[in-house]
Amino acid sequence: MMRQKLKQKRPFHVMIIPTLGCPSKCAYCWSSEVDSPVMSIETVKDTVAWLKDFRSDPVTFTFHGGEPLLAGADFYRQALPLLTGELTHLEPNFALQTNLWKLTPELADVLAQYQIPIGSSLDGPQELNDLQRSEGYYEKTMRGYELAKEHGLQVQFICTFTSHSVQFKEDIFNFFLENGLTLKLHPALPSLRSNEPDKWALSPEKYGELLVYLLDKYLENMNLIEVRNINDYCRCVFTGRGTVCTFVDCMENTFAVGPDGSIYPCYRFVGMPEYVMGHVRDRPSQKELAESGPGVRMRAFKEYVDIECKGCKHIRYCRGGCPYNAIAPTNGEIKGVDPHCIAYQRIFDEIAERFNQEMMGSLGLGMIDPGSQKGNNSRPGIMSLMQKMIAK
Ligand code: SF4
Ligand code: SF4
Repeated sequence: MMRQKLKQKRPFHVMIIPTLGCPSKCAYCWSSEVDSPVMSIETVKDTVAWLKDFRSDPVTFTFHGGEPLLAGADFYRQALPLLTGELTHLEPNFALQTNLWKLTPELADVLAQYQIPIGSSLDGPQELNDLQRSEGYYEKTMRGYELAKEHGLQVQFICTFTSHSVQFKEDIFNFFLENGLTLKLHPALPSLRSNEPDKWALSPEKYGELLVYLLDKYLENMNLIEVRNINDYCRCVFTGRGTVCTFVDCMENTFAVGPDGSIYPCYRFVGMPEYVMGHVRDRPSQKELAESGPGVRMRAFKEYVDIECKGCKHIRYCRGGCPYNAIAPTNGEIKGVDPHCIAYQRIFDEIAERFNQEMMGSLGLGMIDPGSQKGNNSRPGIMSLMQKMIAK
């Protein structure tokens, strides 16, 4: 009985957005806001009070922004004990997404005390990175990176590929490879706060091509680098289950708390009044959030995917992609699935086909030798990657 109960646990994710302010001015940014307030400790206390009886599953708190370190060392020194000490039944885990500019030895000490893994952002070599993100960005982030390492903090970088930087994909891949960094990528999204929302956005077609390119580069250099997204796509195909938020029904298991305590379905919606589901001070239940306007809209997306993607062989582990990508650009109207569907289909098909071919080859049913693709017999195949993932 006990074992059955444990199995039924559904981990959930609460993103805490201490502020939407950010000292950088990245050209394609869609999430920062000048003059955004900073979350008060009262709001953290309200968040704790809200979550006490909200549900009893394991929770991950991710501090996100804007730039979450703008909240300062005192904020984390007070917030972290509140979130851990009073919510032990939720077994809290933490993560933080930051550009590292504002990291100080004092802040690093607090974060190290809670062993908080850090996600940061670099778009490749300095010149390219600074062109997209802002002059001096690279140096400031690297300074923070060195400080984080000195304090024993783990940092992984996310690389945003834009319509511009995708032309330099080889340089970017080599940059991550030569610097011994794990590569995790994001396609630049249309910036809804910009006058030219599509200027930097990576088209779904180009994103699909990029993913196949990175699959090949990863296979060629499998022992030297990890490409996280390719691992995620492979895991989807191999296990038949999505393992990152884009490829599961994120609704009802993901929430974000904005600087003023408003609750949203995800950090991506923070600052959009039409997506406020409730407020932490009112301690809304799961049912109340699900019945709020944005809660209903998120569920409607899930039902839409059930119909719209019904004929797609990847539906089980794709689930229509990211609802934000699908509904934010159409003012909340559900007119389609995640526009990156084209890219998802491309990479899922590629992985599934190569896997099937290699399986047939290894069983002696086909002409293809495991590990051979496009005539390059020295390159490991998709099954080698699967073995690497299982071994890990
Ligand atoms: S809305 Fe998109 S980014 Fe946010 S949790 Fe859902 S899938 Fe992830
Ligand atoms: S790949 Fe496209 S059609 Fe298939 S499930 Fe994902 S979003 Fe739907």
